[in-house]
Amino acid sequence: MTSTGLQSQPTSAIIAEHLRERVVDGTYAPGAQMNEARLAGDFQVSRGPVREALQRLVQEGLLESRRNRGVFVRELTDDDAAEIFAAREVLECAAAAVIAAKPAGERARIATALSSIAAELNAAIRANQEARTLRLDHEFHSRFVDSAGNSRLSRAYATIATESLICSSHGVGAHPPLGDFSTHHEALVQLTERGDIEGIHAAVHRHLTRA
Ligand SMILES: [Zn+2]
Repeated sequence: MTSTGLQSQPTSAIIAEHLRERVVDGTYAPGAQMNEARLAGDFQVSRGPVREALQRLVQEGLLESRRNRGVFVRELTDDDAAEIFAAREVLECAAAAVIAAKPAGERARIATALSSIAAELNAAIRANQEARTLRLDHEFHSRFVDSAGNSRLSRAYATIATESLICSSHGVGAHPPLGDFSTHHEALVQLTERGDIEGIHAAVHRHLTRA
């Protein structure tokens, strides 16, 4: 069998990535049924990789498997959102502890990278691009956690951050006005540069606690 020209990622991982995007952007609405045969047709692949991709998203909590009924897009509630934001806070603070212990030069580089995402994010806010704002917010926080350099922590965070993005995109659970994001992120960048662990904890808490 010859190569199909797909990237080195397995087909199921590529399909999972596409499906994840569509769950996040609402193409597949909460509660919608995922039809394996139809998806295989859409992606022009056999059902095997589609089934694998669906299982992967079930594990990530984006889809749910109902016995004898099939696989559905999970409907997240306000209670789910509260758990998700609390878990994000724990993981982001764990990353903060690692980052704060890094040498000043490295912290400065991390702060610069965060700052450039924050700048793009602020432009998206000014342009009233809500979906783009939320996507960049996801990128900002993922970059922050990835900066700790702990692949397990990054992996745990990736799942919870995607769920968080779904909540925000679908208006589940209250989130602060997008206008407040700029000041929150600016504070996080400065505190990261200073390695102020207490300050980061407080800023993360303020940003993720939904009044
Ligand atoms: Zn944010």
